[in-house]
Parts: sequence; structure tokens; C-alpha cells
Amino acid sequence: MLRRAAAYLDRALAGHRLVRADLRWPTAAGVDLTGRTVLGTRPYGKHLLTRFDDGRTLHTHLRMDGSWRIVPTTDRRSAGRSPQVRAVLGDERWTAVGYLLGMLDVVPTSTERALLGHLGPDVLDGDFDATPGVPWAGPPVLDLPTPGIDEALRRWSAQGARPVAEVLLDQRVVAGIGTIFTAESLFARGWWPWAAADAVTDADEVLREARALLRASVAAGRPATAVYGRAGRTCTRCGARVTRGDVGTPPTQRQLYWCPGCQVRGRP
Ligand SMILES: [Zn+2]
Repeated sequence: MLRRAAAYLDRALAGHRLVRADLRWPTAAGVDLTGRTVLGTRPYGKHLLTRFDDGRTLHTHLRMDGSWRIVPTTDRRSAGRSPQVRAVLGDERWTAVGYLLGMLDVVPTSTERALLGHLGPDVLDGDFDATPGVPWAGPPVLDLPTPGIDEALRRWSAQGARPVAEVLLDQRVVAGIGTIFTAESLFARGWWPWAAADAVTDADEVLREARALLRASVAAGRPATAVYGRAGRTCTRCGARVTRGDVGTPPTQRQLYWCPGCQVRGRP
């Protein structure tokens, strides 16, 4: 979970000087961050931005399989000897080891906006709607209009007849909703995943639902799922069998879980 990864990185590294910085990525091979102080790590959508005191930012993305693990700097695992390791950032006490990161680059902090400018509002941001979000230290990454939900709905309204599941997954409309919470929020609202985005009159409801479910999962430390990953099992609400399908077009299609009993065509 990305928010937790950011929190772990902050706890280990924020405010500390790096005694070791090893970036195993072709385009960052010559970059040396040793000696820099880490200002903090912020999630935005599915991206992680780690800022340093020299005006640079490490931009990473976990994609499907990436993770950060924190180990004591004295531990032999801090060497990051595995071929899966893409980054090692260590201070005197703790070392963050990045496994199978899906993206990594070092950019001037001032260009974060250009890097992420295509993204929609972050569904977990404090300004997304009236309920307080996960607090962030420091300046916002993007200066999108607030509340974010208005901007997300404006972007939603430009999606035409695309299936609602595809629109929820589209980070340019709203950032931070992946396959788990697309499935879960559609199920929670009883929406047919292939309903046309422009036929839906209450898109704000599913966005608020996704936000609420994500917030609960951040608080609990893990997602509670009713349909995601449960293909073939019985729906707890109606008894039908949860089904797995695809949304989107190859090669970028994504897995979708839904209940054909609760999520019926024609609704909403
Ligand atoms: Zn059902």
C-alpha cells in the first residue's frame, strides 16, 4: 500500500542525511544522493516523491510488484544484494531497500508538477472533499482546484460512454484508485462495471465510496475486500458467484472482480 510505503520511508529517512545512496536504474546510474538530507516522501496517486535538501526529487512507482523494505543499516540485508533491488537509501540507523520498482528517476523538485501534471486529483488528498484526508507536510505536489472531487467530476464528464470501471482506473480522471478499490467501490454501490460514464448521474457517490474505502483500508493497514480476488466464491450479499473479467483494451487491460447478482446492467 502506497501510503504506508511513504509513511515507512518517512519514519526511516525524513530529516536524516544519507550515508548511502545506490540507484540501480539505467537513467539514474550516475546520480549520487549520498550526503543529501531527505526532506520527506509523499504519495501522489500511485507515485512516490522523495524530496532532498538540494532541490532534487526521487520519483518512484511501485507498479505491480514493487515494494520498499526498511532494515537496520547494520543488518546485512541493507546491502541489497538481491538482483531485484533497484534502490538503496540508507542513513546512520535505517536503510530503505526498494525491490522491483516499476519506475525510477531523479528530477528537479521544481519539475514534479510537469512529471505528474496529467494526473487527476488524488482521491486521498485532504482537499478532495469536505472530510479531512491524510495530512501532508509541506507544499502540495500539484495545484489542482479544490475540492478535488469537483475537478474529478469535471474530468469524468469528458469521458463519454467509457465503462465506469475504466474511468475509475484512469489516473488522469482521479488519481489513486487501483484495481482493488475500483472493484470494491462499484460493488458497494451496486454499479454494473460497464455502465457508460456519461449515463451516470451520481458519479460523486462512487468517488466518495472509493475514498471512504481507501481511507478505511489505510487506517486498518490492509484492504477489506468483498469481491476483489474472490472469483468463484459466493457473494456475501446475494449468494451469486463473484466473477472475474477484464476492463480496458489490450495490452493495458486490468483485472476486474464483480458480482453479476448485485451489479446488474441497467443500474444505476
Ligand atoms: Zn452479489
